[in-house]
Amino acid sequence: MEQHECIIIGSGPAGYTAAIYGARADLKPIMYVGLQPGGQLTTTTEVDNFPGYPDGVDGNAMMEDLKKQAERFGTDVRWGMVTSVDFSKEKGGWHTLTVDETTQIQAKTIIISTGASAQYLGLPSEEKFMGFGVSACAVCDGFFYKGLDVVIVGGGDTAAEEATYLAKLCPKVTLLVRRGEMRASKAMQNRVLETPNIEIRWNTDTVELLGDKSVEAVKVKNNLTGKEDTISAKGFFVAIGHKPNTDIFKGQLSMDETGYLKTTAGITATERPGVFASGDVQDKVYRQAVTAAGTGCMAALEAERYLSAL
Ligand code: NDP
Repeated sequence: MEQHECIIIGSGPAGYTAAIYGARADLKPIMYVGLQPGGQLTTTTEVDNFPGYPDGVDGNAMMEDLKKQAERFGTDVRWGMVTSVDFSKEKGGWHTLTVDETTQIQAKTIIISTGASAQYLGLPSEEKFMGFGVSACAVCDGFFYKGLDVVIVGGGDTAAEEATYLAKLCPKVTLLVRRGEMRASKAMQNRVLETPNIEIRWNTDTVELLGDKSVEAVKVKNNLTGKEDTISAKGFFVAIGHKPNTDIFKGQLSMDETGYLKTTAGITATERPGVFASGDVQDKVYRQAVTAAGTGCMAALEAERYLSAL
């Protein structure tokens, strides 16, 4: 069986940053890219808030740059999906990963950066307009809709936070809530209710997004009365939750009630020695490329220190 010092699972900003730091520290990291090489940023068009790109950068191009940078220092980037894990409980023990349900490989340190996936409504028109009016991140993409009317769907803290964020940029924000109440905390709800340019449509479902090349309007339906309506909007933001990609770690690592991996406060260590978690898989609060990259750096530094102390 192949044995290595460090394996990185996942290829978003956290994984690639861990790879850059790990490779420069001579850990000779192996990276398995997973089902969505490049991660969530490959579903967006322009990234305007990653430091160092004064004119913005295409999400796919940025991930290609990160890959090249990681490979320049010797990261072995491999196609493949880690399908199960068996983490050692011993300090210095070998962790075993199964790739694509067939090949086993071991390492002394594992950096988990499998990310989280934004939940979408599942409408065909939503997929059609992905990156052309449809976004799952107001902080990332809201700026492109400055001065334009937008619609946002969801009733949790994310939807409330993103609606108030968008209300600072957009003349009108319509928030679609599928029930007669919001799940968001009272404080967040109050912020929404007190923002004059947010209109809440209660008991409202999204029927379809309308437009030619990009979103121009949103067809909605009141699920109590059955009445349909069309709201003119250039942007459609989905804020109905994220799912951390942690299914393969069940029974091996502790998670919170929504499936995010638990790490020791302030660092990236999990409860298994030599297993670290970085990026959105352990962060439901910030969820930004730059914060993911930051924790990827931390994980690689911690892995290096762990190996040096063995
Ligand atoms: P949540 O799971 O809390 O909320 C999801 C919302 O989307 C719910 O209102 C839900 O409706 C709605 N929804 C789900 N599916 C659909 C659908 N198909 N159509 C329409 N609406 C749908 O997710 P969040 O991302 O808002 O929050 C996740 C966690 O992160 C929470 O614990 C939250 O408190 C936390 N968080 C904290 C923040 C902070 O403290 N600043 C900021 C952001 C998040 P319904 O209620 O009917 O199920």
